[in-house]
Amino acid sequence: MSTIFLDRDGVINENRADYVKSWQEFRFLDGSREAIAKLTQAGHRIIVCTNQAAVARGYVSVETVEEIHRRMLAGIAELGGSIEKIYYCPHAKDENCLCRKPRPGLLLRARDELGIDLSDAVFIGDSMTDVRAGLAAGVHSILVLTGLGVEQFRDHHHEAEGPFRITLNLRHATEIILQGLHLYTGPQTALERACYSILDISRHLDVLATTRVLEHVALPSNDLAPTRGATTF
Ligand SMILES: [Mg+2]
Ligand SMILES: [Zn+2]
Repeated sequence: MSTIFLDRDGVINENRADYVKSWQEFRFLDGSREAIAKLTQAGHRIIVCTNQAAVARGYVSVETVEEIHRRMLAGIAELGGSIEKIYYCPHAKDENCLCRKPRPGLLLRARDELGIDLSDAVFIGDSMTDVRAGLAAGVHSILVLTGLGVEQFRDHHHEAEGPFRITLNLRHATEIILQGLHLYTGPQTALERACYSILDISRHLDVLATTRVLEHVALPSNDLAPTRGATTF
C-alpha cells in the first residue's frame, strides 16, 4: 500500500482555462473515476492536492470549492473510489505562499497531518508544477498527457529537477502502479521514448531554422525544376 497524490484539474476532471467555477462546469475525465476505484480497491491511500487560485482571484468562493469537492467525492464513491482528503491552495501566485505548487507544502501538510510515508508515495499531475512539487517532497512523479500535459511537457519538461514518468492519463498511470512497475529506474516506455524523440525533432528544427540550411533544403533543386519546353503533365 502506498499513497497516491492526485492533482485535480486535468487529471480527475477536465481543465478549464477560466477555472472550474461551479459544479455545472465540472466534468470527470473518461476513466478517472474507474481508475480511482481501482487504486482504492488495491488498498492505496488517495489524496488530492490542487491549486485553486480562482479563490484568491474572486472567481469562486471557498464554499463553492468545497461544494464541488463534496460532489466530486460522491461521484467517485458511486464507482467505489475513496479519496481520503483534498488539500487545496487558495492563494494567488503573487502571495508567495508555501502551499502553491510547485512548492511541496500541500504534500508536506498531508504527510504531517495524516502520517504518510512519502518514500513510496506517487504524485500524478498534468503540469510540470505537479512534477516539481512531487520531486521536492521526495515522491515519485508522473506527468499525465491529459489536461495541460502535452503542452506542459513540450514547454516545461526541462524544469524538473529529477526523473519523472509519463503516462497517457490517470487510467494508464493506475495500470502501471497496479502492475508494480518500478516508477523510478525502469526503462523508458514506448510512450516516453516517443515524447522525447518528438522534442529532439523540434530541437533540430530550431537549429536548422537559425542557420541558412533551410533556405537550401526548402527550395526545389535545379534538376527538379521544369526545363523550358519540357512536357508538363
Ligand atoms: Mg492540473
Ligand atoms: Zn497557498
